[in-house]
Parts: sequence; structure tokens; C-alpha cells
Amino acid sequence: MKDTFSEEYKKKIRLLDKYNKQYYQNQKPIVSDKEYDELKNEILQLEKKHNFSHLKSPGIKVGYKPSKKFEKFKHKVKMLSLSNAFNQEDLINFQKKNANFLTFNKNYEFEYSVEPKIDGISASLTYKNGKFVKGLSRGDGEEGEDITANLKTIKDIPLKISHTDFPDEIDIRGEVFIETNDFKKIEKGFANPRNAASGSLRQKDPKKTELIPLKFIAYTFGFSSEMKVGKQSDFIKRLDNWGFKTSELNKTIKGVNNLVKYHSEIEKKRFSLNYDIDGIVYKINDFGLQKRLGFMATAPRWAVAHKFSANYSITKIIDIDIQVGRTGALTPVAKVKPVNIGGVMVSNATLHNEDEIIRKDVRIGDTVKIERAGDVIPHVISVDKKLRSSKSKKYIFPNKCPSCGSKTIKDYNSVTKKIDAVRRCSNEGYGCEKISIEKLKHFVSKDALNIEGLGKKVIEKFWDLKFIKFPDDIFNLNFQTISRLEGWGTQSAENLKNSINKSKKLKLDKFIYSLGIRHIGQENAKLISEFLGDYSNFIKLKDQKNIEDLSNIDGIGETQISSLKNFFKNKINLKVVLSLSKILTFEKNVIKKMAGVFSNKILMFTGKLNNISRAEAKSIVESNGGKIVSNVSKKLDYLVAGEKPTSRKVKMAHDLKIKILNQTDFEKISKLRQ
Ligand code: NAD
Repeated sequence: MKDTFSEEYKKKIRLLDKYNKQYYQNQKPIVSDKEYDELKNEILQLEKKHNFSHLKSPGIKVGYKPSKKFEKFKHKVKMLSLSNAFNQEDLINFQKKNANFLTFNKNYEFEYSVEPKIDGISASLTYKNGKFVKGLSRGDGEEGEDITANLKTIKDIPLKISHTDFPDEIDIRGEVFIETNDFKKIEKGFANPRNAASGSLRQKDPKKTELIPLKFIAYTFGFSSEMKVGKQSDFIKRLDNWGFKTSELNKTIKGVNNLVKYHSEIEKKRFSLNYDIDGIVYKINDFGLQKRLGFMATAPRWAVAHKFSANYSITKIIDIDIQVGRTGALTPVAKVKPVNIGGVMVSNATLHNEDEIIRKDVRIGDTVKIERAGDVIPHVISVDKKLRSSKSKKYIFPNKCPSCGSKTIKDYNSVTKKIDAVRRCSNEGYGCEKISIEKLKHFVSKDALNIEGLGKKVIEKFWDLKFIKFPDDIFNLNFQTISRLEGWGTQSAENLKNSINKSKKLKLDKFIYSLGIRHIGQENAKLISEFLGDYSNFIKLKDQKNIEDLSNIDGIGETQISSLKNFFKNKINLKVVLSLSKILTFEKNVIKKMAGVFSNKILMFTGKLNNISRAEAKSIVESNGGKIVSNVSKKLDYLVAGEKPTSRKVKMAHDLKIKILNQTDFEKISKLRQ
């Protein structure tokens, strides 16, 4: 398979955006939800594997921007998505992660509010003084469409609530959906009940909405004025009291084993329900804990959607292909006899890495079980060794790069103290053709230089024609020659020239990211760029000792430092950076500062904090406008010393006259205690 990481990634992102528009805005999905989920998870998986973050990715975006058909309004509290879990292991991890965040015992079993995940569309209903005044769709999570008139046609939505415990102002949130029986009557023209609900609810004319028997089930709230409720399950009781419909399947359950039991019980009866559900949502029941756990980019930390079962199929491996990625990683992909899994034809399945092949003893010709779970790209689960031919041979992972013939190596990870499972091409930088092409594709990609018109195919073509070898060659292209190429013309060459020129001005973090340094994804590039401030400091990294300074940045560790050292050690890399610096102009970094008690302050932690994890402490500082570093320097404002602090650090801070806080001081400033 020729596809490699960045081209594959970019294509997937574009495709996902197209699917989102069709689904959220036009209610005309062009692929099944399974296929969509798979693509989304493939993207997330790729980002994780290749250390990407914060791309125009489902990892930071929910839904789709509001349609121009409706007036749009900001949600007072964002409407996010939910993280997914697919099996018991995911749930155990979910629980452990949260226990860890809260510094609870790692085996702590939370109490959960368990709710069916109704497959409809969510809506937020604002009530002021008991009156339903505005209803918004989720939109892109920040801004929703004003669909008040349409929502008013739904009989389940109370227009007036006069209970004394009903808050003066509250956004009630829940799911708008169509029951299966009703869907059967109006099925024509809609792919499924969810799309029918979404399409009907987002009609321009509320009279048309009224004709569709939409239902509403409430399950949460966004903004609320004072309300004395401590648990999600108690809030659901209140919803009932106030006259909202809630699901009869809601429950409170303690511990993962019991969640799994309930999940399989509901999964069995899922098709006998009168509405579509695609999983079960588990929410940590205690609002106090929810508040401490807070939110990630697209979902709360304290909730997870446990989706219903994955799909699998049996097929045969025809061949094993080795893909070479931008960072030299060799990924084995099984080319399988095409097989239909849940309505989608699958002909490739990842084998992850060499260790995985050895562990499962996967061989060409083997009969294998392939899974298309939501969380990963199709992958080989197991081999049926009984069906193996006696002539089959062990698969030997190439010890030479299939692209450049260099030796392949496995790194030793000094942090995990383990040998990497991934084998890589040892040809650092631009010595390997496949890596070079991938680096070029990465350089021009949307989140790097963002050169429109220079897609993967064009890069490959220009490479074959020897127009480009290094990123700086892109700025010396001959557009007259290009205009004469097949499929090109004066206009398209001119357009390319313009977009290349436009890309010459960019922010330093984009530039750092564009270089494709291993372990330096968007987020790390941003951290480094904020720390260094401008290019003149960045180029000083060519002096290896300056790279060490970056360990001051919270988030930049040994792995990144050693990768940066390798990068700058390579003469070609340095030459590329210097040539590019003569062509490009770097815009000044504008750092968005959060307001709060730590605004503009730099903090560092040493020693153990009681009842609060480092992750939570960090999140408190950052959400109050502060920055965390990991080394003591003059720039530090506060050193927070917990139990058993590193005495060297405390002494250094003391010598530099830096204010040293104990945990109580820190909690007082952060208003965690009075
Ligand atoms: P999601 O559907 O995975 O989860 C979040 C949603 O769950 C919330 O917005 C809410 O509407 C719903 N929900 C139901 N019961 C809930 C409860 N008790 N508590 C909280 N939330 C509850 O998130 P998403 O971001 O909307 O995911 C998109 C879904 O739409 C995916 O399943 C995807 O397959 C589908 N999709 C399909 C296409 C396509 O082209 N086929 C395109 C885009 C999205």
C-alpha cells in the first residue's frame, strides 16, 4: 500500500469534514454511522500514534457550525460530546484515570448515573422564571441554532414550570428523537430515525416540524442559577418532578463489573425498545467530583459512552505490506481478501507493529478474525492456526527499510525503560525517499504551511519529476514548467504560486511543527514557540546545550529533548531550517492569556500534594491564567512545595528570593479553601 501517514491523515480529515457537513447540516449522511465513527477513530488513533494534537480534528471539534438558515446564539455552557468506551478494559481505564486525577485509591469504584444513549439530537432549552424562552441546537458546541419555535411544537417540552425549586434560570438539556413506530410512518426520505429527528427539528418552518411526532427526554443541564442538588441521579428525579420526561432505563450503579452487566442486559433488549439507542452513558454521579474532574477539549472527563458491540469478520491474509511513515516508523498492514464488516468492505487491516506480528504469529495466507471496533482502524484480532497450511512460513519483519534499504532499528525508550515496539528506518532526515516525501507532505499540510493546491498527489508528482527534494525547493518552483504539465494550466499554476507566496508568512509554532520533528506535534510546537518567543532563539537550538533549556517547559520531557537533539545534529535538517528562514517571515506570537488569580504568573510544583493530583493542580493553575514550569529559574513567581519537596529546588528558589507556597497557601490563593 502506497498510502503513508500524512497523506492518509489529511485525506481522512477532509473526508470527515465533508461527512460532518452532510450529517449535521444537511441531514443527508453519505456514509453509515459505523463508517463515520471508524474514520473519526482512525484519525484519533493516527494522531495518538504520531504524536499529533490539536489539529482540525474530531479531537477538538464537535458537531458542525450552525446553519445560516437560523439565527445563532452562544451556549452559556458549552455543549460537548462524550468519550467512548468499547469494552471492560476501556471502562477500567476510564475509572482508574479519574481515580488518579482525584488522587483516590487506584481501585476506587465510583457510583455512576447510568443512562441510555438515545440516538437523537441534543437540544438546550433555556427557562427564565419558569418560562421556556429559548431553545438551541448543539451546533458546533459553542454556538447553536435558534430552533425555539420548532422545539415549542414538541409536546414533551413544558412551556411553563411553576415548581418553587425550579431555578430562576436554567438550560435543560436532552435528546430530541422519534420513536421507532412513528418513524415507520414517515420513514420515506430519511436514512434513520436520528436523521429524521434532526431534519424535522431543523426545518425553517415550524409548521412542518409540528407534523412530525418528535419526542424529548431530558438528562442534564448547562447553565443554571443556584440549585441545591448534589448528584446527577437526584437531578434526574427533579427533572421528573418538574414535568420533563426521563428515561425509564436510568439507574445508579457502582463499579465497572456492574456497569458491564447492565450494558449487556440492555444490549440484548435494545431492539425491542421503541427508540434507537447506540450505547449507555455512565456519568460519575457526584456533582462535586464532576466539577473537580472538569472537561477535556470535546468531552467531560467524568462521563463516558459505552457503545454497543463491535463488528468482526473472518478472512484471509493475502500479503503483508510495510508502510513507512514520516518519522520512519514501519507499520505492517495486512492486505486481506475483501470482506463485508457491518456493511463496509474491508481489504486492509493493521497489524500495528513487529511485536504484534510476533506475539500473534501472523503469517501470509493465515485465516484471521478482523474487527472494526469504533476505537481503532480495522485490525487483526486473532489467527485461526488450525486452518493454517503446513507449508506456511513465519513472517520475517524486514530488517531493511523497504524504501531506502537502510538498517531498521528499535529504539530504547529511556522513560519507559523498554524497547520500542515500533521498528523504524534508521535513515534520519532526508536520506530515505519515503520519509522525505512524507516530510514534504507534512510541511505543506493544513496545520503546517497550509499550501492549498499542493496535495499529496502533487507532492508525489513533483518529487518524481525531481522538482522538489527539500521543503525550500517548494519556493523555487518553475511555474511556467508546471503550467505545461498534464492536468495543469496557466491559471492553476498561478493559483499554486499565490498559495505558496501566501504561506511565506506564518507563526513560529507552525514553522516548528512543519519541520516534522519526531515527538513535536502541534501542542509541543506551541509550547516551544511560546517559550522561545522568536526565530532568533529557535535557531540557537543548533547549539545542543541550548536545547536543554527547553526542559523548563512543562510538557517537554526527555523524549522531546532527545528528539530535538537528533534533529539539530543532522546537517541536512539544519541546512533546511536555515534556507527556510531566509524565505519565510515569522509573525509575532500573540499569547492568549486567561484571566484569573494566577494571570501572568509562573508556578512550579515540587513534592507531593495531599488529596489533589498534579494533573488537577495544573488544571487549576492554567484555568486561572497561570503557567507551569518544571525548573526553578528567576522567572518563577511561586514554588509550591508539597510533602517531601526536592530540597535542591527549594534552596534554589530560596536563593533566588522566589515566593515559596505550601499546599494550604496554594489552595487559599486558588480559592480551593477559605
Ligand atoms: P455522540 O453522539 O457520540 O455523544 C454525544 C451525544 O450523546 C450528545 O450530544 C447527546 O446528544 C447524546 N446523548 C444521548 N443520551 C445522553 C445522555 N444520557 N447524556 C449525555 N448525552 C447523551 O457525540 P457526537 O459528537 O454527536 O457524535 C456523533 C455521532 O453522530 C456518532 O455516533 C457518529 O457516528 C454520528 N455521525 C455520523 C455521521 C455520518 O456521516 N454518518 C456524521 C457525523 C456524525
